[in-house]
Amino acid sequence: MKQITLLDLTFEPFISTEEIERTVIAIAAQIDNDYRGRNPILLIVLNGAFIFAADLVRKINIPIRLDFIKISSYHGTASTGEMNEHFLWKSNLEGEHVIIIEDIVDTGHTLHYLQQKIGAQHPASVEVACLLKKPTAYQYHDTLKYEGMSIEDKFVVGYGLDYNGLGRDLDAIYSLKVS
Ligand code: 5GP
Repeated sequence: MKQITLLDLTFEPFISTEEIERTVIAIAAQIDNDYRGRNPILLIVLNGAFIFAADLVRKINIPIRLDFIKISSYHGTASTGEMNEHFLWKSNLEGEHVIIIEDIVDTGHTLHYLQQKIGAQHPASVEVACLLKKPTAYQYHDTLKYEGMSIEDKFVVGYGLDYNGLGRDLDAIYSLKVS
């Protein structure tokens, strides 16, 4: 893996496709085990989680339902904390077992905003599956049920994650090179 340049920034290899795949398979196995007989609804947070979710749902073997949310709070390489709701799920979540599928949890503001919105619909349960988490940036005290990999507080791209629209198509994860 070589370093890459997107617009004005250079990124270096950080997490390989093999490591990502191992993590996705492990999360899928846990969901299979925990949700057997419960037909959970996976709420996929667009845009960033689309590749993680596409791989994850094909590794899960139990019956699941899918729905989508498009929300954003990031500008360039920093979380703004202010939410833009582009669209929310269509399913009726009352009494359902919901799993929020996130690409990366940084400050946690997006997730907590969503958890409140979803909670207002009285689901039977709400859990979170994320591929990446930045524990030092996270501003809440709960633990997420399915946390893929913990990473340092670095800006990363690839495997669905972008820098100003670029880099989502990369099949591995790259981190911002600080010179
Ligand atoms: P939070 O609300 O937890 O601060 O941020 C969550 C959202 O910000 C993620 O769903 C993701 O879209 C974006 N984000 C957070 N950290 C990164 C990062 O390192 N790289 C990219 N490309 N997006 C990030």
